[in-house]
Parts: sequence; C-alpha cells; structure tokens
Amino acid sequence: MAFDPCALRPLFPILSQPAYDHPLTYLDNAATTQKPIAVLEAIQHYYSTANANVHRGSHYLSDRATNHFEQARTSLANFINAPEHSHIIWTKGTTEAINMVAYGLEHLLEKDDEILITSLEHHANLVPWQQLAFRTGARLRVIPLTSEGDWQLEYAHYFTDRTRIFAATQVSNAIGVHPPLQEMLALAKQYNAYTLVDGAQAIAHYPIDVEALDCDFYAFSGHKMYGPTGIGVLYGKSQALEVLIPYQTGGEMVHHVAYQATEFNVLPYRLEAGTPHIEGVIGLAAACEFLQSQDRAELLKWEQHLASYTYQRLFKVGGIDIYSPEKGTTLVSLTVPNIHTMDLNSYLDSKGVAVRAGSHCAHPLMAQLGIAGTLRASFACYNTLEDAERFCDALIEAIEILADD
Ligand code: PLP
Repeated sequence: MAFDPCALRPLFPILSQPAYDHPLTYLDNAATTQKPIAVLEAIQHYYSTANANVHRGSHYLSDRATNHFEQARTSLANFINAPEHSHIIWTKGTTEAINMVAYGLEHLLEKDDEILITSLEHHANLVPWQQLAFRTGARLRVIPLTSEGDWQLEYAHYFTDRTRIFAATQVSNAIGVHPPLQEMLALAKQYNAYTLVDGAQAIAHYPIDVEALDCDFYAFSGHKMYGPTGIGVLYGKSQALEVLIPYQTGGEMVHHVAYQATEFNVLPYRLEAGTPHIEGVIGLAAACEFLQSQDRAELLKWEQHLASYTYQRLFKVGGIDIYSPEKGTTLVSLTVPNIHTMDLNSYLDSKGVAVRAGSHCAHPLMAQLGIAGTLRASFACYNTLEDAERFCDALIEAIEILADD
C-alpha cells in the first residue's frame, strides 16, 4: 500500500501519548475522531484574532468573525457539493439536524401517513421519527433485514402511497453495513416522500455529493470528521428547507418582530436561532480543508484495508462472530460467545486499546441480531497496521484469559 498513515500521525498530537504505559491505540473513531493541529489552530486563531458575535455587529471584529463564519458555510457547501451556501444549516450535530427535520415536517403529516426507516438506524435516526409518529398518528415502518443473515434489506414493498418521509443511514454505525441507499432514495422519490440521509458514519470516509444522492436532507456531525464537537450540518434542498417550521425561534432567525407577529428571516438564518457555535463552525471548515488536502480515495482504501485485515486475522482465529462485512467497510464489529463484550473491552483498555462495547445506540438492531451488543473497532486515516495488530493481539489474549474464567 502506497499510503503511509505515519506521515499523518504528527498532525494529531493526542495520538503520541501513552495509555497506561502502552502505546495509545485509538480505534473508537466511529464514536468520535481525533482532531488535527490545523483544527485546533483554527479555533485558537479565531479567538486570538476575530472573536465577536456574528451578523449583529457593525465593527471591525464582528465583520471579521462574520466573514470567517460565512466563508466556512461556503466551504461546507463545496465539501458536500451543495449548490448554494444557503443550503447549509448549522446544527449541534446529526441528532439535532434530524430532530430539526422531524419537528419541521410535523405540520405536513396526517394520521396513517407513513414514516419509513431501516432496521440499521442509530437511535438518532429512529427516536425522533417514532416520537413524530406518536404526535401525529402517523405510522413508523421499518424495513427489515432479510432472514438470510446477509445484511440485505427487503425494501421494495415498504414504499407505498402513504410514505411521506423516508430516512436512512448511509453506513451503519453498529455493523458497518451500507444499505442500497441510491435505490431506496429513488423509490422514495417515486412516492413523493421527503428523504433524509444520516451521513454521520459516511462523512469522514466517503466523498459526499448531495446533488448526486438527490436527497432532500443530509445530516452529519463535525466531530466524526476530525472537526470539533457541538457542531454539525443539516443540508437541505431549498424547497425542503423552506417547508420546515423553525424548530427554535428567537434572535438571528427573524427579519422583523412586533408583539402581534414575527416575520422570519430568509434561509439559512431562518433555521438558526440564537448565537451560533462560531468556533465550532471555524474548526469544522478547517477539518474540511484537512480532508480536502488529502487523497481521499487513498485514505478510504487504507481504512478499508485495516478493517479487512482485522476481519481476516480474527476470522482465522475462529470462535469469533463477526457482524460487519469482510470488505468495503471501515470497522469490525464482533462478539465472542460466552464472553461479555464489556469484559473484552476492559481487557483491551488495560492494554491501551480504545474500542467500543455495547449496543451502539441501536437497540432494535441488536434485538434483531439476537445479541445485547458488539465490540466495535473503527478505523480512521491515522491508524496504522500496528494499531490493527495490537487490537487483534489483545483481543486474542483476552479471549484466552476470559474463556478460562
Ligand atoms: N447517526 C449515526 C449513524 C451515528 O453513528 C451517530 C453517532 O454515533 C449519530 C447519528 C448521532 O451523532 P451525534 O451524536 O453526533 O449527533
């Protein structure tokens, strides 16, 4: 492989520290990624040179802050190939973006309308729709996995004349599966449903083109793509964003206010009440720049290589149930019969290996798989083959020790 992750590691200072006298092996990237120096410096530079509230002021610093802030919106639009900067709405993250849409579309839903999701969804792309269904009398329908255990979805019959909203993840955070998104989105369009894609697990790995996807909404979080926490994006087509009832009201999102009525601002401000997370926005734009400065196809190939290397090594060991696909994904999700994933996690942690054990905010998916949770190792561009090996070695050791208990 030509790509060398060691060249990237100095850009991520957190990775050079030990964890309990072991090299830190950070494989919890699906939960959150580490941040490159460029992101940390962009935030510090903003506070050192431009800090002021945006849009409201009429002074030097406020203009500077507003320029950086709005340039960041344009960077994000370019990053996902959104046609206009006004299609980018700043949110706290994927969860808030999806809640914003679920709240904003409520006025269009009637009893017995259908909201369709897949069985791969994170709770963030499930609970808001479930609650919306409860409030409106709509039905939440879930596209199941096939009974063959091959992680395929039996989706065709689930789209009906009553489907008003279709929301699906691009990549499963729990088991790394990619649903047939393009086909499902095309079907949803045939039924004139609003479509939302949860891009939380895709955004760091895959170049995203919202025009090509042709979804109405696309949601993602900055912290999963080397950016800061507390900032994310809701992309929407103009006509889709226009129909959303603002989820929050207050300052910034208004054009004119009188006691009798309020005239809302234009997009994107109409959906951004209050002082925004300015340094988060600046940091997120720096994260985009970091990713755009890399050969993203090479990064992806490397991350997939690490995942399939890990898969193959563990598969050869035997006695491990692997739930993620062998190829094409950037994580490995597994269980070991008769050993609790939390015990495996604790052992790995004691060796400096950071992974995640549990249901990964996907209780219904775990229930369908008949398990309580999995152990998930998820890779990012700065992970090395040694990281994958340390994970495999520590896991194999843990199994030997814990199996005897
Ligand atoms: N959707 C998916 C697929 C996720 O993996 C996550 C987080 O793990 C979320 C949504 C929620 O993201 P956030 O907590 O950043 O809002």
